[in-house]
Amino acid sequence: MKHRLIVFSLDAIASTDSYIFENLPGFRFLIENGAYVKKVKGVFPSLTYPSHASIISGRMPSSTGIVNNLHLQPSRKSMDWYWYEKDIEGDTLFRAARRKNLKTSAVLWPVSARGLIDYNIAEIFPNRKWQNQIMVSLMNSSLLPLLKINKEYSHLLDGLNQPQLDNFVEAANTFILNKYKPDLSFTHFIAVDDKKHHYGCSSNEVAQAIKTYDKRIQNMLEIIKKDGIKTTFVVLSDHAQLNISKGIRLNNYFDKNGYFKKYKDGRIKSYRAIMHEAGGACYIYTDGLKQNEIDKIKKDLEDIGKKYDIFDKVYDKKEIEDFGADPCATFLISTKEGYYFDQSIGEDFFVEKPKYKATHGFDPNIKDFSAVLFMYGEGIKKGASLENSELINIAPTISKIMDLGLRGAEAKPIREILI
Ligand SMILES: [Zn+2]
Repeated sequence: MKHRLIVFSLDAIASTDSYIFENLPGFRFLIENGAYVKKVKGVFPSLTYPSHASIISGRMPSSTGIVNNLHLQPSRKSMDWYWYEKDIEGDTLFRAARRKNLKTSAVLWPVSARGLIDYNIAEIFPNRKWQNQIMVSLMNSSLLPLLKINKEYSHLLDGLNQPQLDNFVEAANTFILNKYKPDLSFTHFIAVDDKKHHYGCSSNEVAQAIKTYDKRIQNMLEIIKKDGIKTTFVVLSDHAQLNISKGIRLNNYFDKNGYFKKYKDGRIKSYRAIMHEAGGACYIYTDGLKQNEIDKIKKDLEDIGKKYDIFDKVYDKKEIEDFGADPCATFLISTKEGYYFDQSIGEDFFVEKPKYKATHGFDPNIKDFSAVLFMYGEGIKKGASLENSELINIAPTISKIMDLGLRGAEAKPIREILI
């Protein structure tokens, strides 16, 4: 091993959380002894799966093909996620590392199920009646490591509750690092995302969850110090969140105007136009419509946006392309703060009591809606600090540090933080 690189993705840590994390010892150590990028612009839609695919490829969702968390499956009650690594088009850090004969590991890294990763504990959950968690995990992860990890650490789990799930993830990653010594390891922690969704962005629960992230950084720094292996430690986040208080049932519009064919039980059988939610943003997909019909939808949607003051602009194909979002969509919309898009069709246009208090998915150009990035150790300038960068700069930076020869990245390494 020339040297190893360890990535922690701290889901939903935002630049606006800096008043908390900058005062915690683990983060503080990274800032003082490594490099700190204060604002990292995400991808559109700013969701976990598109973001993580872009993090490991250095390319926008339009190029990776991971354009949402969920596949558009309107007839299904619970749509499938983009779980599988094979869904990512083009090159990734995992694939580049494999070409160089380097060993990789991933623990609950989004869009990595069944991937060509040497030690992989997949992020996937059962989405069919006949499936259960153990079965889908076994089918989509590296079998032997998973069996060993389950035997040793499954007692740490309490369903999907946090911070128990992150405790398990941390234990699994530490086990893999010690036993298998991968050259590159990728681990995804979720507590802050979970707490922001359930309690709002500035809640005590979020502050507590940020402390658990800090503790995990401290623990990893301790391991790096003890085992003495030359290491680059990358700590990143994927997106921020914004508080919400109302859901928008935009599919009510398409339903009322006859764009759906439905089954007797009310499920959508087929559509000529449909909204696919992406949290604080949504796509509109159309099938076989004439231009004048598409124009009419745009005008109607803009009128709805104005009438309720819930969104400013309905982006069309050219703008979607500029954003690097799904080129197959006809329109893309980002809400105003306080709103999110709800996939359901219901009596009321608004969901007045949403399940969540905050979410993501919004336009990454919104002010103060940024992720953060820290890098420390081998190859990284001590005390470097940078105001701005982008999520798609991370993969080329890692590729440069580890000499991976990543192909096709749409961005350059962040040279200001490299030695
Ligand atoms: Zn996320």
